Amino acid sequence: MSELPGIVVNGASGRMGQMLIKLVRENPGARLVGALEREGHEWVGADLGAAMGGADLGVTVTDDPLEAMSKAQAVIDFTAPAATVPLAGIAAQARAVHVIGTTGLNEDDLAKLDAAARHATIIRAGNMSFGVNLLTRITRMVSEALDTDFDIEIVEAHHKHKVDAPSGTALMLGEAAAEGRGVRLSDVEDRARDGITGEREEGHIGFSAVRGGDIVGEHDVIFAGPGERLILRHVATDRAIFARGAVKAALWGIGQKPGAYDMMDVLGL
Ligand code: NAP
Repeated sequence: MSELPGIVVNGASGRMGQMLIKLVRENPGARLVGALEREGHEWVGADLGAAMGGADLGVTVTDDPLEAMSKAQAVIDFTAPAATVPLAGIAAQARAVHVIGTTGLNEDDLAKLDAAARHATIIRAGNMSFGVNLLTRITRMVSEALDTDFDIEIVEAHHKHKVDAPSGTALMLGEAAAEGRGVRLSDVEDRARDGITGEREEGHIGFSAVRGGDIVGEHDVIFAGPGERLILRHVATDRAIFARGAVKAALWGIGQKPGAYDMMDVLGL
């Protein structure tokens, strides 16, 4: 019997779900022990491999989280807030690390995740890639170094199927920029501009979103000052970078004390 840590993937049929299944299976330090989908999903009851259009994998897709997690040390979850928030309580009950890539969580959702993190190890990040987490660190440094005569604008682009805006990554970058200036993002954010908006307010952090085609994810942090501009950019060309980070987070989280962690903790940045 293999002693490798067991991982469950929630939202197995999703774009990220399928990528996660591939990467968990390819990782020599982990084994895939479960695949979760929502009640009524056509994959439930089927072999995961067959559902994905390949050979059987010996893992049956289930809609029962406790059953899926019975042999698991961690669950990786890139789904939607309505799925992620209740799963946090169940993962805590199953003593499984909950790695959350889901974005679009509101204040109420985040408060519930914080409550679950009192008893469970939760690792959540709006972006699990190494490059974006490094960019977040750099954004904080640059923002700290520059005065407010440098206007901060965050421009993000994603594929046409994305349902939330600004992206979780854009918000992560915005939080880092606000932290660098010693302010709260909620006090200075400009999320949408339309019509006669008046002049830009000094010290504010602006967000804009492009949606189209199959763009995996692009983020620019623009520091526009008098006579010069600094632009920090990350371009994702393959969503495997997010899945790789998530698998790393799951393996890192096993054995950590209960609490709320992010990718900065995992990567030691
Ligand atoms: P997707 O292809 O639409 O997949 C979403 C999956 O979640 C589907 O399997 C879907 O099942 C399931 N799901 C949705 N609502 C559910 C519910 N209420 N209960 C149970 N399952 C539910 O989306 P994706 O592109 O993979 O992205 C998923 C999430 O990850 C999004 O929030 C996205 O922003 C985020 N994301 C994060 C990162 C990161 O690094 N943190 C990177 C990429 C994406 P159905 O097919 O039944 O709806």
